Amino acid sequence: MPADWSRTVDVERLADVGEVREFDLPYAELPRLVPELASLEGVARCRIAFSRERGFPVADIDVRARLPLRCQRCLRMAPLEVAQRSRVWLVAEPAAADRLEAGIEPVLAPDGRIALRDLVEEELLLVVPLVPRHENEADCGRLASDEADVRQTPFAGLGELLKRGN
Ligand SMILES: [Zn+2]
Repeated sequence: MPADWSRTVDVERLADVGEVREFDLPYAELPRLVPELASLEGVARCRIAFSRERGFPVADIDVRARLPLRCQRCLRMAPLEVAQRSRVWLVAEPAAADRLEAGIEPVLAPDGRIALRDLVEEELLLVVPLVPRHENEADCGRLASDEADVRQTPFAGLGELLKRGN
């Protein structure tokens, strides 16, 4: 079922049967996330379990990914490890969210339907920083493949200059 996560599902029915869906979601299929990414290769590993809490449908979402974010300082890839778990209320209309207790985030599922992809995308957008950057500025400007040996480079270059100066 390759397109399973893009079709909307009936959250009431899945909550009744305690449905669990596991799937790999390609980054290219996450339209709101794509502008933040330096590469579209790879997948998010997802598990969504439906159940009820106090009668309302809820989804336990588990997303694991190594998001290839684009660093806004050097515009190269700054991967972000994601291991995100959360429980959300699936509410059919915005007014219903007001009646629920705080502590669990409500997600709108219009007419009781939502695409699994949208649930995953919401979770990922929560963890993506507003301005993605390499955590350590020294990592900026490096290609991922350079990481092992780049540390020596500035000093090697300086040595060459000094030699020439003599
Ligand atoms: Zn950077």
